[in-house]
Amino acid sequence: MSGSLRVVGIGPGRADQMTEEVRHALESARHIVGYHTYLERLPPLERATRHASDNGDELERAGHALTLAARGEHVALVSGGDAGVFGMAAAVFEAIERGPSAWRALDIAVLPGVTAMLAAAARLGAPLGHDFCALNLSDNLKPWATIEKRLALAAQADFVIALYNPASRARATQLHEALGILRRHRAPGAIVMFARAVGRADEALLVTTLEEADPARADMQTLILVGTAATRRIERAAGLPWVYTPRRWIEAS
Ligand code: SAH
Repeated sequence: MSGSLRVVGIGPGRADQMTEEVRHALESARHIVGYHTYLERLPPLERATRHASDNGDELERAGHALTLAARGEHVALVSGGDAGVFGMAAAVFEAIERGPSAWRALDIAVLPGVTAMLAAAARLGAPLGHDFCALNLSDNLKPWATIEKRLALAAQADFVIALYNPASRARATQLHEALGILRRHRAPGAIVMFARAVGRADEALLVTTLEEADPARADMQTLILVGTAATRRIERAAGLPWVYTPRRWIEAS
């Protein structure tokens, strides 16, 4: 009896932003493994046993899913957004590389989801219309000095920058420092967007400037987008402005 593992991204939160492929994989799974807040967001799935874990060791969670699959079970391992973007997919391959060779023969597939950056950008207009990059501000798995260097270089290269994990209870001052680095390389009027809980009932969007961006507005559920010199806003009579980055780049002289 051969088992399977589907590593799935369930999207930012809205049920209709989960792909059909992922929904189908969840419906066919006998075991669903994941961080408990993601499991709570899933629709009722009668066939499956849920294995909720807290935010601890992702490698251990991946190993648990692989062990179940190696026993012949059909397993879905769940990430928010896309599993490949700061999610469980890389942890699965780290576990496979270190684990028993039998894990390499398993039927494994990674199924894409809508990552927070894309969901947030779509709500705001088209801020990612030109070249962009994504940085994870958490220093759990890399030194803060590396984050500082990447922020400075991304700012100088004039990418639109998406900041995942901008803040947590354990990391209150880092966003403040990150904004300080960006302010050294970008104009004070550069557009900064805070997108919180996109696609969920408590969604909150804010369009501000680099000068006025308040780190206290960000929490663990917030994604920040930082516009380039070319990123523009279109005011509307009601609601937030549209924000977009034009497709064509004109080098400042
Ligand atoms: N794999 C996920 C990212 C996990 S890292 C994805 O592809 O979206 C967790 C970070 O993602 C959060 O700190 C936040 O920055 C961002 N995030 C996840 N879901 C979000 C949502 N619905 N709205 C805004 N940001 C979100």
